Amino acid sequence: MVIILENNATETQIENVVKHLEDFGFQVHKSTGVEKTILGAIGVQPDFDIRKISILNGVAEVYRVTTPYKLAGRSFHEQDTIIKIKDVSIGGNQIVLMAGPCSVENESQIFHLAEIVAKSGAKILRGGAFKPRTSPYAFQGLGEEGLKLMRKAADHYGLLVVTEVMQIDHINLIYNYTDIFQVGARNMQNFAMIKELGKVDKPVLLKRGIAATIEEWLMSAEYIMANGNNDVILCERGIRTFEKYTRNTFDLSAIPVVHKKSHLPIIADPSHATGYRDQVPPMARAAVAAGADGIMIEIHDNPDAALSDGPQALVPDVYLKLITELKLIAQAIGRNI
Ligand code: PEP
Ligand code: MN
Repeated sequence: MVIILENNATETQIENVVKHLEDFGFQVHKSTGVEKTILGAIGVQPDFDIRKISILNGVAEVYRVTTPYKLAGRSFHEQDTIIKIKDVSIGGNQIVLMAGPCSVENESQIFHLAEIVAKSGAKILRGGAFKPRTSPYAFQGLGEEGLKLMRKAADHYGLLVVTEVMQIDHINLIYNYTDIFQVGARNMQNFAMIKELGKVDKPVLLKRGIAATIEEWLMSAEYIMANGNNDVILCERGIRTFEKYTRNTFDLSAIPVVHKKSHLPIIADPSHATGYRDQVPPMARAAVAAGADGIMIEIHDNPDAALSDGPQALVPDVYLKLITELKLIAQAIGRNI
């Protein structure tokens, strides 16, 4: 931790700050310049609340030097994490594609879309059976019936399944059907649930909360890892800003930031990030170019009749064309799809 003192901080104030730091267990190094005094506090305390120092008289600024996420961060784990599920690797040179409807609606819908997903070369079928809807009156998902249909369609076409879990007491049920647990944006800080997901032996796809900083997102990954599950896939799905022409603001820069700070794979979800189907292909292309380890896309063969998120769903032809473009972009940056 680095503490910059106010230019006019008194000796007594500085001594008081030093005493606090020592009492908190830090070793303190003081450097006195012509105008400024800077303190270096040595000692790894990932859970230290730096506000305990910033509120002291005479303190101008406090910076944390070490990251508070030890397991998710790169400091103690330099190599990229590659998560293997059957014959699929997430986080390596191969960019993984996940596609499917927002919600599983019925058997013919999920079978037809699974066929398209497989045809595109994607390895993972997405689809919600338990849906986190903003309105309690909106379609809430088919529940277990949806899970069964999705598993059946995925098995038929040789795909893996990723589906959302919204509550702790559904973990065991969903475990029977899914290959990857999705934690939705609205549940990124449902600490009780993500702690439980730390105890399962299947990967977790952790979406970024709508108002979460990257550090908060990585701390949620840390919760899962600290409880025993190292297989966390991060997913950037847009954040809430003042902008109204997009559903969310796609934080493309989160991709290189996460790659720098963390060894965990990061995928991009341009569907929820933009909310409008005309914006999805450009942002998917940008995400691949920016280094995403995977792309998640919502598709539907009749978006106007979709039970959720129709406006952001790509129709199969547009989706298939997009995938051919993504393959070219991947190749251009030395990766493949
Ligand atoms: C979804 O994937 O359908 C979904 C609800 O995503 P998010 O949690 O990002 O809104
Ligand atoms: Mn959706």
